[in-house]
Amino acid sequence: MHNLDIFNESKRYMPGGVNSPVRAFTGFNINPPVIKSGKGAYIYDEEGKKYIDFVLAWGPMILGHSDEEVVEEAIKTLREAQAFGAPTYLELELAKLICDTYGIDMIRMVNSGTEATMSAIKLARGYTNRDKVVKFSGCYHGHFDGFLVAAGSGVMTENIPGSAGVPKDSIKNTIIANYNDIDSVKEIFEKLGEDIACVIVEPVAGNMGVVPATREFLEFLREVTKKYGSLLIFDEVMTGFRVALGGAKEVYGIEPDLVTFAKIIGGGLPCGAYGGKKEIMEMLSPIGPVYQAGTMSGNPVVMSMGVATLRKLINNKYYYEQLELLSSYMQREIELILNNRGISFVINRCASMMTVFFTEDTTIKNYEDAKRCNVDFYRRYAEHMITNGIYISPSQFEAMFLSVKHTKEDIDRFLDVLRRF
Ligand code: PMP
Repeated sequence: MHNLDIFNESKRYMPGGVNSPVRAFTGFNINPPVIKSGKGAYIYDEEGKKYIDFVLAWGPMILGHSDEEVVEEAIKTLREAQAFGAPTYLELELAKLICDTYGIDMIRMVNSGTEATMSAIKLARGYTNRDKVVKFSGCYHGHFDGFLVAAGSGVMTENIPGSAGVPKDSIKNTIIANYNDIDSVKEIFEKLGEDIACVIVEPVAGNMGVVPATREFLEFLREVTKKYGSLLIFDEVMTGFRVALGGAKEVYGIEPDLVTFAKIIGGGLPCGAYGGKKEIMEMLSPIGPVYQAGTMSGNPVVMSMGVATLRKLINNKYYYEQLELLSSYMQREIELILNNRGISFVINRCASMMTVFFTEDTTIKNYEDAKRCNVDFYRRYAEHMITNGIYISPSQFEAMFLSVKHTKEDIDRFLDVLRRF
């Protein structure tokens, strides 16, 4: 069946033909390829066309698609353990791997990044007995009502829901600050510090395109939250086990109170988790008063994929060096090509996640900067790349990822296609 026929029929049964909006290629002159299979760094559509995949399911597939060892583990588990809704040894294995590698006391498994951040916020509120949450414009923490807030211009402007169906009441405790802007946070804490339960931040933002926080900014967040008795939450859904084994926490050497994970820890199956200090985590039911539960939480098949993925990453530490070498090569070569063509751009990169911003600006350090990009130019670039077998995000405001299966030849192929744009 042709991609287009499938996609058109999908539109009759699923809104926009998709189960998550960005997949629909809204505003594009090409239709999204309908993906049938994946192996290593490559994915194949229903017409048998091959793409080098730089989306990697939006981050999780750091080992590449259908890694033999990971898949074997999952199949073995599936044969004997599908779902019990009871304690399993596999949960303990994954919990230990994450806690020991990242450096936290305790963890709770959930089923998505959204669930992880939503639950972490509830826990922070329960622990501090406070309601307000500071979030940064341009950071995405999932589709939970309290986070769907338009980035009002400037600090503390009246919040306007960023989606229909979000009651004004459910965002009244969400305060928006500017990313990488210490003063905007300082101002908020001076006014409301005693009411702030937590600050949640992507330490390397990936959802306005890649925008790493400055060290001073994260240090300030650590300091100010400590001073006012608020919790600092690192949302490492994208960066966890991606930018380093120890995530952004390791890269910056800054310790959050709570951390959220998803993507890589599930090895490509639906998964999420949040964790932190024992004293905070033991506020969770059944020990403490903060209620959070899940029928499928800690599902054995998911856990076995996570365990196999993390074991492989831990046992092959050179993977991260390999990813860094390949990513820096890719960045340098893209810069050369675009410079030669006289195209204005900024590349932001942290390890194996990067974004090419088409902009007249010389730096992209927050949402306001990112919004000034030429999204129409990006769309034409993405259309060209995807049509020519290079699968990248259809949106300017996403990251491009590498896996350990990508080779220099794959990157050179990317560069060849770019040269023809
Ligand atoms: N936090 C961050 C940093 C994310 O990148 C995402 C998803 N891209 C989420 C939370 C939400 O995760 P999920 O889509 O699994 O709900």
